[in-house]
Amino acid sequence: MTQRVWAFDLDNTLIEASRFYGYAILDFTRLMMGVLGWRTLSWWEIGQLVSKIDRGLVEKWGASRDRFPAALWQSYCRLCEFVEVPYDDKVGAEVWAIGKRALSRTNYSPLLVIPGVGDVLNRLSRRGDELFVVTKGDPVVQWRKWQGCELQRWFPRDRFIVVRWEPAAGYPGDKTEALLELRDRYPFHERFMVGDSIKDDILPALRAGMTGIYVPSNWHWHPGEIPLLLPNGAIRLRKITEILDGFPGR
Ligand SMILES: [Mg+2]
Repeated sequence: MTQRVWAFDLDNTLIEASRFYGYAILDFTRLMMGVLGWRTLSWWEIGQLVSKIDRGLVEKWGASRDRFPAALWQSYCRLCEFVEVPYDDKVGAEVWAIGKRALSRTNYSPLLVIPGVGDVLNRLSRRGDELFVVTKGDPVVQWRKWQGCELQRWFPRDRFIVVRWEPAAGYPGDKTEALLELRDRYPFHERFMVGDSIKDDILPALRAGMTGIYVPSNWHWHPGEIPLLLPNGAIRLRKITEILDGFPGR
């Protein structure tokens, strides 16, 4: 009888919470168009500016919860310079608040759990498999998601592993070490890591001697993700529910 350990990535694997960045960029764009008036840039240029500045900050700040508000704020400053409008403190504070809203605890609810995920997790845990989340990010934000999305239904506190990602503070955000610990804890289990990033989920899985299961998502936000071919030994699924077809119960 084979026993199995499953490590799941969180964002865009079990839950979808990325939309709040999109909503914030829309709010920011609307605010900027009002503030800049007839001098405004087009909505897509404003969006592109935010995205360029945000990606620039990722290298140092990783997932730090200040990164995105800072990206919006820097975009506002850049726009002021570019169209020669004076910087306004009140607008600056509003911009920062919009950025923080993207990470607010009130965003997160069980509705964000991706359809089919609950069924997969229920069935795996019912048959006695060991379930973990291994997610990289800002611990404060990731724990807000754990609470808001009610993930304790499948992952008690000690099974929700947050790998802090903030390079400038000495946290490179590599999941390999956390996965190696799981390997040492369950040396005789079959071990899987399921995620939507080849760089952040699948390669660390292979380094830790686990089978990587790649389930791509439509949300393409993986800084440094090279459109890599799936490495040998990894599995690609279209949907997470296919886990149940590929690994029937014992
Ligand atoms: Mg992910």
